[in-house]
Amino acid sequence: MTEIFRIITIPSSTASVAQQSGTVQDYTGPGAPQGCGQFVVDALQRPLRDLRISVTDRCNLRCTYCMPREAFDKEHAFLQRADLLSFEEIERLARLFIQLGVQKIRLTGGEPLLRRGIERIIESLAKLNTREGKPVEVALTTNAVLLSQKAQSLKDAGLARITASLDGLSDETFRRMSDSDVSVKTVLDGIAAAQRVGLAPVKVNMVVKRGVNDHEIIPMAGHFRNSGVVLRFIEFMDVGCTNGWRMDDVVPAREILEQINSYYPVRQVDPNYTGEVAERWHYADGSGEVGVIASVTQAFCHECTRARLSTDGKLYTCLFASGGTDLRGPVRLGMTDQVLTNLIAGHWGRRNDRYSQLRHAVTEAPGEKSREKIEMSYIGG
Ligand code: SAM
Repeated sequence: MTEIFRIITIPSSTASVAQQSGTVQDYTGPGAPQGCGQFVVDALQRPLRDLRISVTDRCNLRCTYCMPREAFDKEHAFLQRADLLSFEEIERLARLFIQLGVQKIRLTGGEPLLRRGIERIIESLAKLNTREGKPVEVALTTNAVLLSQKAQSLKDAGLARITASLDGLSDETFRRMSDSDVSVKTVLDGIAAAQRVGLAPVKVNMVVKRGVNDHEIIPMAGHFRNSGVVLRFIEFMDVGCTNGWRMDDVVPAREILEQINSYYPVRQVDPNYTGEVAERWHYADGSGEVGVIASVTQAFCHECTRARLSTDGKLYTCLFASGGTDLRGPVRLGMTDQVLTNLIAGHWGRRNDRYSQLRHAVTEAPGEKSREKIEMSYIGG
């Protein structure tokens, strides 16, 4: 462990965006990202603000674009219980990430509601404060299959918000996308339960695949208008190595918006905060909000402030990463908080990932097709 973790204090009047990556910087001057005091920046000067934690690599659906059944069958080596970060380990690491600037934590997976006692980790994370003394925002992404029965206990545990995934309104389309017999009604009931208990605003993600569920764009928009739910369309991404991604299957966000606009006129609104991944649009008649996440056609790497902690405790700095840094080993070896903080800050400091911006060069270069990428269920979507 030779990396030195340094805190640089720059008088706020003269501060400029931090120049030295991997060290903690102080920045409170004009143009600073909202809420920033001291923070760690990467090689491209991006601060660390969000942490996604995958709490399980298992899922009760087999979405073809995420965990195709052929690859994630009975033979698949899912992680064993002892491999998973315990809730105590997650909480300890979360505290360290927060010290480096994290303000939001999202629990994901796999399907996070499959992790037994998920409420316990939500409860402990929701008690943590950011360095500015505000409560850390704890959110969760779920396929909503178990949400009806869990919504109240999640809310009681301190969960702030929920994002549910739903790729179509007809059972037939949903079956085709999720490769399961779960009914759309089950998911819609889960979403309704989340709204009822106040996990608001509920967001719904719909991954769009050309020729598979793009005919559901307008029905989905129509269904969620006037409901308080924010529907977001996600471009099908080339995450992992098993989903058979082809550019031809991607429906660009512009095309999705044009379709919506021709049925339900929309106007663009400002992002809620710098680095928000979804482009936000409001229906002109005031019937709500809709969004697009154009991670393929309009990469937003330059604003990416997200770190990912895999189910077994590896730190990844990009959804499209090939490798990460092990934190579980050092935790279990009894390393001090300072050593762990150095590891995290050092790894973030070396970060220069911008895969989505380079995607075309990467995917079209001869020999690059075999590049290994981590599966989303393990790294956390
Ligand atoms: N099981 C939970 C769920 O279904 O929301 C959480 C994990 S899932 C990996 C998180 C999100 O990633 C979901 O909204 C899912 O639709 C999205 N996702 C997974 N694979 C994707 C892909 N190849 N392209 C775009 N979005 C994807």
